[in-house]
Amino acid sequence: MSFTLAIVGRPNVGKSTLFNRLVGKRLALVDDQPGVTRDLREGAARLGDLRFTVIDTAGLEDANDDSLPGRMRRLTERAVDMADICLFLVDARTGITPTDRVFAEILRKRAAHVILAANKAEGAAADAGVLEAWELGLDEPIRLSAEHGEGLNELYAQLMPIA
Ligand code: GDP
Ligand code: MG
Repeated sequence: MSFTLAIVGRPNVGKSTLFNRLVGKRLALVDDQPGVTRDLREGAARLGDLRFTVIDTAGLEDANDDSLPGRMRRLTERAVDMADICLFLVDARTGITPTDRVFAEILRKRAAHVILAANKAEGAAADAGVLEAWELGLDEPIRLSAEHGEGLNELYAQLMPIA
């Protein structure tokens, strides 16, 4: 069975880096897809033997302050509604911010399945941030490094039973 995974989280946590890693060169067709605006990038992802559609909430790059403007919220909610599973990324290096907590609340209310991942988790500098991620009241955070490709086996293990 195929499914749709939305990568959500505040700006700069590494969503697009992970999207690119999951999609690789298979970013075809995106622009022409009906119903997908340029704010939501969609790609064909592969992880082990799993094949799925992944959505990146792009278009938030200008929202650099740590607030949650309505546009970010609406875009996230749209991605959540399109998805079977949400992958909620936080930044293990900066730790949990108030905006992360708002995202957690949206996801708790709205998403069928939420997987929490603490990204940028390569190295000991991320240990405190990974621990902090437990405070969000979701499941155990995956230690992820989108940039270095670490933790993808754990992501696979969490996707597998839901997919
Ligand atoms: P987005 O705004 O959530 O889409 O975040 P981006 O994917 O654009 O990444 C924001 C910044 O974080 C970039 O400079 C990335 O290179 C960096 N980044 C992404 N993943 C990692 C990671 O696993 N470790 C580290 N150290 N940096 C990362
Ligand atoms: Mg991005």
